[in-house]
Amino acid sequence: MKKPAAIHAPLKQFPTKDNELVIGGKTVTELAEDVGCTPFYAYDSAAMSRRVAELRAVLPEGVSLHYAMKANPMPEVVRHLATLVDGIDVASAGELEVALTTETPPHEISFAGPGKRDWELLAAIKAGITVNLESPNEMRRLATIGEAEGIKPRVAVRVNPDFELKASGMKMGGGPKAFGIDAEQVPDVLREIGERDLDFVGFHIFSGSQNLRPESIIETQEKTFELAYRLAEDAPQPVTLLNIGGGFGIPYFPGEARLDLEPVSAELAKRLSECRARLPEAEVVIELGRYFVGEAGVYISRVIDRKLSRGEVFLITDGGLHHHLAASGNFGQVVRRNYPVVVANRVESEDKEMVSVCGPLCTPLDVLANKMTLSHAEEGDLIAVLQSGAYGYTASPLGFLSHPKPVEIFL
Ligand SMILES: *Cc1c(COP(=O)(O)O)cnc(C)c1O
Repeated sequence: MKKPAAIHAPLKQFPTKDNELVIGGKTVTELAEDVGCTPFYAYDSAAMSRRVAELRAVLPEGVSLHYAMKANPMPEVVRHLATLVDGIDVASAGELEVALTTETPPHEISFAGPGKRDWELLAAIKAGITVNLESPNEMRRLATIGEAEGIKPRVAVRVNPDFELKASGMKMGGGPKAFGIDAEQVPDVLREIGERDLDFVGFHIFSGSQNLRPESIIETQEKTFELAYRLAEDAPQPVTLLNIGGGFGIPYFPGEARLDLEPVSAELAKRLSECRARLPEAEVVIELGRYFVGEAGVYISRVIDRKLSRGEVFLITDGGLHHHLAASGNFGQVVRRNYPVVVANRVESEDKEMVSVCGPLCTPLDVLANKMTLSHAEEGDLIAVLQSGAYGYTASPLGFLSHPKPVEIFL
């Protein structure tokens, strides 16, 4: 049976004017003129603000939001989000440096990630942020550095849970993992934290990301709270921070719908009131990256060549995999599917055709759109890849083939 043509859900994200995509109040042609070259990434601050406001409106009172800045570490983006959310999660000393340029209080910045170097731990201690411990050895190294500095480091234990986030785009917990300390090892680590000069604040339990199914997020949150209660029994000090992860996904591919947060929120409200009774001092944090920024970003490239090969149309652009690995399908995807792509200066047209949009790299992996139906495009037209605000620029092999890097603009 032939499936009906699947429609990309997020195409209405940005308005149009004169049949052109409008981002941050300007048409793509105007933006390209302003930037002076293609390709570029454009990030719309108003779209980020709207996303955070909508999320706050639906989530229960009393839950804090952190921005996991590896999704988009552009300093302007981080500084904008810092004004909207309660804290920032960093994954390197480089990210920490940017986070420290915001108004975010140090105790609302946390640093997760395996393999933190001694100098990174030192930077974290000096800044007074929370270090999410990824291993027993990391705990010992941090304690030793803190003792040498005469500073008591703030620590949370990142737990590798004994369950998985089901139907998640990327699983980051459960089973043997490089991330976090296995739940069954945590009691021993907590005992040792109590014996060292470490200021224990709580737990970080992150199970995975890019989840669009409310029922699996609900189930994960329930298990996360249960695990935290269980582990808290061995904690050397009261739990004041409980980071329950995030995992809220955004629709990228045909047929995907927006995550329905109403049921997630309703269940979370119950979990929160229970948490107030069981861990009365705990600030409950949800950490999100792509959910805040993914839909606010667009990657624009220009058609350099239009060619016909054995009956198929290829649009060759000046942008591709080297700038946007995820859109090419090579950033952890199992099956390649098309991101939402439009001809940005001819959004609607009577004259549609099936084309493949390829970049300038000498590899068959360099595909931005595989056999998509788009408005007829010619050399000089602009191609937009939507849903590109997260894991775009910095998650791409920018040096591959030595083409120029794309520009990033914050609108
Ligand atoms: C990457 C990461 C996130 C952000 O994931 P998104 O899918 O962008 O929301 C959150 N927490 C941790 C620990 C991460 O490593």
